[in-house]
Amino acid sequence: MDRVVLATNNAKKLVELRRVLADCGLDIEVCGLGDFERYPEPAEDGRTFDANALIKARAAVVHTGLPALADDSGLEVDVLNRMPGVRSSRWAGPAGDDAANLQLVLDQIDDVPDAARTGRFVCAMALVLPDLEADPSGRTPGQEFLQRGEVEGHIIRAPRGDNGFGYDPIFQPLGEQRTTAEMSPAQKDAISHRGRAVRAMATFIKGLREHPVTLAH
Ligand code: IMP
Repeated sequence: MDRVVLATNNAKKLVELRRVLADCGLDIEVCGLGDFERYPEPAEDGRTFDANALIKARAAVVHTGLPALADDSGLEVDVLNRMPGVRSSRWAGPAGDDAANLQLVLDQIDDVPDAARTGRFVCAMALVLPDLEADPSGRTPGQEFLQRGEVEGHIIRAPRGDNGFGYDPIFQPLGEQRTTAEMSPAQKDAISHRGRAVRAMATFIKGLREHPVTLAH
């Protein structure tokens, strides 16, 4: 595996993955969807982060013929039965309005005491390999692998901090005084769900390259 595609149009995610793979000593070319002809994005209608990450990675294999990585992430709030979950980006409506999403969560747990305002950011990262035996063009998805990263924390009562995005201004990781919106990108990467999932996947890919036969069966 010398080339992979990351199923995203988000340039920041591409830069992050390239950096983490390089830090792991992996010499692997990472393409983004911008390097290929545009294709219709698949509906992310899975019930779990894992399912949605797999949907995106399989679609990228079909359209590029390369091994494909994709991630899916969001916020789980325990007293909301782990929602917004896979609906994190559209919790207050279809628009992906970060401020409205965050405010709706705050309103929904307004009467919940501090100790019970627990939750976590979760990131699932999928790797789907082409089934080259079934289809030498590489456009048939084959073996699938998943890695996850999580960061536990509390939902505070009012937003703090200007960095990050989404629910960062109301999420305070366990053992921290700052929200993830008050951390620098490097500080957040070091503890975040996405940082953990990406590093776990980088380590996994390293193993796959070093022991391809063992892991392929
Ligand atoms: P995506 O899967 O990376 O597109 O993230 C889906 C949604 O989850 C985002 O629109 C945010 O609402 C939320 N989310 C995911 N990761 C983070 C994070 O690191 N900070 C804040 N919100 C996040």
